[in-house]
Amino acid sequence: MNKKTIKDYNLNNKKVILRCDLNVPIKDGIITDDTRIKASLETINYIINNGGSVIILSHLGKIKEAEDKKKNNLYPVSIRLSELLNRKVIFSNITRGPELNEKVANLKQGDVLLIQNTRYEDLEGKKESTCDEDLAKYWASLGDIYINDAYGTMHRAHASNVGISKYLPNGLGFLPEKEISRIDSIMNENTHPFIVIMGGAKVSDKIKVIENLITKCDKLLVGGGMSYTFLKAKGYKIGKSLLDEESISFCKDILNKYPNKLILPIDTITATSTDSENYTIKDIDKIDDNELGLDIGPKTISLFCDNLKNAKRVIINGPMGMFENENYAKGTKKIYDFITKNNIKTLIGGGDSAASVNKLSDANKFYHISTGGGATLEYLEGKILPGISAINEKEK
Ligand code: AMP
Repeated sequence: MNKKTIKDYNLNNKKVILRCDLNVPIKDGIITDDTRIKASLETINYIINNGGSVIILSHLGKIKEAEDKKKNNLYPVSIRLSELLNRKVIFSNITRGPELNEKVANLKQGDVLLIQNTRYEDLEGKKESTCDEDLAKYWASLGDIYINDAYGTMHRAHASNVGISKYLPNGLGFLPEKEISRIDSIMNENTHPFIVIMGGAKVSDKIKVIENLITKCDKLLVGGGMSYTFLKAKGYKIGKSLLDEESISFCKDILNKYPNKLILPIDTITATSTDSENYTIKDIDKIDDNELGLDIGPKTISLFCDNLKNAKRVIINGPMGMFENENYAKGTKKIYDFITKNNIKTLIGGGDSAASVNKLSDANKFYHISTGGGATLEYLEGKILPGISAINEKEK
């Protein structure tokens, strides 16, 4: 990637507009996971330490009606950000207008201003989400340089991350630079075996990722809820297991095209309902009509580990079972244990995978755990992310 980054600019006495992804879960006004705020600190501190002031734009949840403004208010984030930075964070409760202009005009070196949720602008005419030109121009008018650090929203083309880039000198922050370079590195290095493990819920969400990665990897191991649609496509009875009816023909095609590359579960942990305390280990051809498969079984764990034995690089997308319930977390955990014990270079990305690593393993033992669900999925599909392509190339 040859995009400009924050390091290409002299930030001294500059007002830097920084798009962050501060879209954290908030319950009853309390932030329940501040990972994304912490992930933004490196770039914010770099601007402060290099003599700039910081004007932060971020979305939080979706704003479809006036009611949504209350629960998706960035004010609690400004408080947590201030604690983590150990300095005052000025908060603007409005997304445009004279009051905000005045706050910006008064910014001094090292000051940090957080502007209210960019999606408040979606209430009238979806201005943020449709990349409204006037809005982008207005936000650009507030600063001297634009830096996009919001990796989690790189797959969107909104006013605050794509529109604004056109009107200012721009660059990437540290977070997307690291995310993209890690994915590029593992995708492009020419070492084999290269193993991809796919799991999680629905096939339909990941068809394009499978289509892209299967051409590049040596084996694609499929577990989790999505494996049952593949098994059904092969003619197995899957009882009440998760089925993605619309993807059956895709699964048939891919099985025909890559019969030796795709590895499916050979046994499963079944129950009669997701909250049942009773579960049974079953070979894959023994699932009863009233049962559903909720994790990969011990034979599948061995089969998958055999395929991982000499792996030089691995990409994992999605858990092997319903890991939130301890009874169905073993398959995912055993795969992570094998990888960490054998020091296999592994990238975890997209969907719910990061949560499963945090719960079942030691995140520090993986090559990279991506912070962006949708953005990483689209990047693994081989798509160009609009937030990245909007940033200028480095001069040669
Ligand atoms: P994703 O976001 O696509 O990676 O999906 C993650 C979700 O898939 C998790 O919440 C898991 O509980 C769920 N999941 C994994 N395996 C199964 C399964 N066998 N049946 C139902 N849900 C599953």
